Amino acid sequence: MTDSTECLKEKILIVDDTPANIDVLGGILVRDYEISVAISGHMALDIVYSGETPDLILLDIMMPEMDGYEVARRLKSDQSTSHIPIIFVTAKIDEADEAVGFEAGAVDYIRKPVNAPITLARIKSQLELKRYRDQLARMVEKKTDQVKHSQRALVEEKQKLTQVQGDLEEKSAQAHKTQTYFRELFMNSPYGIVLIGRDQKILNSNKGFFDLFGYAYSELSYNEFPASMLDGRSQEKIEDLVQKALEGRTGKTETGCRHKNGFDIQVSALAYPVKIDGVVQAVFVFYEDITQRKLFEQKLHHQAFHDALTGIANRRYFTEQLNTLLQIQKKNSRFRFAVLLIDLDRFKNVNDSLGHQAGDQLLKLVAEKIKQCLRNNDLLARLGGDEFAVLLSDVDSDELISAIAERITKAAASAFMVSGQEVRISASIGVVTHTQGYDTADSLIRDADLAMYHAKDSGKAQFQFFSSRMHKSALTCLTLETELRKALERRELVLYFQPIIDIASDTLEGFEALIRWHHPSRGLVPPDQFIPIAEETGLILPIGDWVIREGCRKLVQIKEDTGQLLTMNLNVSIRQFLQNDFVDKLKCEISNAGLTPQNIKLEFTESLLMKYTQQAVRKLYALRDLGVKLAIDDFGTGYSSLSYLQQFPIDQIKIDRSFINAMDNKEESRKIVKSILALARSLNISAVAEGVETRSQLDQLSHLSCGSGQGYFIAKPMPWEDLYDFIVQYGKK
Ligand code: C2E
Ligand code: CA
Ligand code: CA
Repeated sequence: MTDSTECLKEKILIVDDTPANIDVLGGILVRDYEISVAISGHMALDIVYSGETPDLILLDIMMPEMDGYEVARRLKSDQSTSHIPIIFVTAKIDEADEAVGFEAGAVDYIRKPVNAPITLARIKSQLELKRYRDQLARMVEKKTDQVKHSQRALVEEKQKLTQVQGDLEEKSAQAHKTQTYFRELFMNSPYGIVLIGRDQKILNSNKGFFDLFGYAYSELSYNEFPASMLDGRSQEKIEDLVQKALEGRTGKTETGCRHKNGFDIQVSALAYPVKIDGVVQAVFVFYEDITQRKLFEQKLHHQAFHDALTGIANRRYFTEQLNTLLQIQKKNSRFRFAVLLIDLDRFKNVNDSLGHQAGDQLLKLVAEKIKQCLRNNDLLARLGGDEFAVLLSDVDSDELISAIAERITKAAASAFMVSGQEVRISASIGVVTHTQGYDTADSLIRDADLAMYHAKDSGKAQFQFFSSRMHKSALTCLTLETELRKALERRELVLYFQPIIDIASDTLEGFEALIRWHHPSRGLVPPDQFIPIAEETGLILPIGDWVIREGCRKLVQIKEDTGQLLTMNLNVSIRQFLQNDFVDKLKCEISNAGLTPQNIKLEFTESLLMKYTQQAVRKLYALRDLGVKLAIDDFGTGYSSLSYLQQFPIDQIKIDRSFINAMDNKEESRKIVKSILALARSLNISAVAEGVETRSQLDQLSHLSCGSGQGYFIAKPMPWEDLYDFIVQYGKK
């Protein structure tokens, strides 16, 4: 027999304390059933609970310790074993016993000695019964499970339903909220918003739209923008924008519109497609009022390209225009234009003497005057300061350009009334007519500038056409600047000394230190040729410092060599004077040299006094307090009057050599010198005559009781090496 059939065999437990009985029963059953055996009630229970649960138990009643009834009762009272059918096997049985047996849970009885066929039949039927019962129980169990399962599913389903219902309620509340938000956003947005449908008709508009344009949604007939709101151009722009948005593209434009009340407004419009399931259904257009911004932009634009003072174009605008014309000329070589660069002569004097406000007023008047000399299409600009520029477009002859330049020169030379005073200035003009060779506005302006400087050099109040030879002298200027930077460290600068004498006693008072540049290739360069460059570039500051130090040093040397304590005049440029630490530095140099300040005289030009600022005046007093002497150089060439001098702590004036030179043959000059001297005396200011070149001049000055003299007739400026001999010689006179 195979395992599998054995497995199918039902299990029967035989319980009997008499082995012989077991043998008999086992013999009958062994063929059809799997048999297990117990020889006491306890053993039977052990087998049942060991997990080897039998399908049927043949139980002997009469057993020591625990009888069959007891075993049956125990098994029946336990739910896990109560289903096992029990058949009692007994020798003698009466009805009372039988009742006890059935009560204890027996299903049947077999009598001893056992009859094999009956036993088999009874066992078989009991097992069959059990099988049915088990099957039934399984079915019931299965059904119960199924019911339980369905029940659970039902509960779950119900829970789900409740959840869904809750979600739905929440979602609808949320949707309502969102809708309200968006409605609020739309209706009360500070932007003017319209919703436009696929047919370009307006579906709705908000309060912002009403605020901006004055139209309520209900007023929009045919659901279109009112014709008076948009002109043709704006209409086109907006339609274009909406069309693009309908095609799915967000766009923005700026345009002018008209308010219902008739005034113009500038708006920016942003169109944005509204897509539902990926398809554009409508378009939102957001309008924003940008009128203020536009006005501001216009103002900025104007400011960026116009000169605030005169209202005419500024340098930036001029250069831009110029560049445009150069571009045009590149494409059309027959196109001609010219550039005029205008610089006012002596403007600085007006500014210095009458003040900045007067200067500004003059600039405005001049701009007006120049404008009158131009044609409608010509452009006038102020490049800065007292510099103007003109763009003459479309000129076909040099004659025409000359005529215009001439007109401007004449106009600038006319009298202007400024601050109730008549002011006369003039203009120097540089002209560039051959503009073909230029790539940039800057290079063109630079050449016009060069030509202008030539006009100034040739006596001002005139115009000059640019020519390429002007480049050469400009180049000289440029190289000079580079070389001057190195001159100091290379010790190429030297001081020459020109004596100043006391005229009445014909004794030596001191010297004026005059700077020279020993240029390696150019030889001795006079100060007129490099001091202006030094001033422009700021190199005058280190140079000025050096002059002061060197001047002090040499004065001490003179005293050591000759025993005479003389004075040293030092020229100071305005820029140098305006340095914050000028007084301190000077003080330091004087004391380092071991000098007393009284022996140093600083020469300033008149224009310094015109820079009548509190700070400048305070500095002059600080210098006086320090003890140095102060002189006004080239007196008579500027605008200052003698009475003006009173306000400043001035010790001396140096009468300009042009007056002294003219004394010999001009009675008028003699008179001027005489009155200057008289006034100086009355103000207790001493005087020096500059540029004394002849005996006669010196005699006249002596006659007019002019205190001191300086000039070629007395002695030319001399190098340090000649100084000792000169002093010794002069002392012997
Ligand atoms: P300035 O201060 O008026 O100097 C006097 C100028 O007149 C000197 O010219 C001198 O050589 C010249 N001169 C003297 N006597 C006569 C004369 O009888 N006839 C003629 N025709 N000229 C005479 P220089 O040395 O060429 O100096 C020119 C200018 O350069 C000076 O004019 C002064 O403004 C400036 N300068 C010279 N040295 C310095 C300096 O160290 N610092 C500054 N900031 N400027 C200086
Ligand atoms: Ca001088
Ligand atoms: Ca002078």
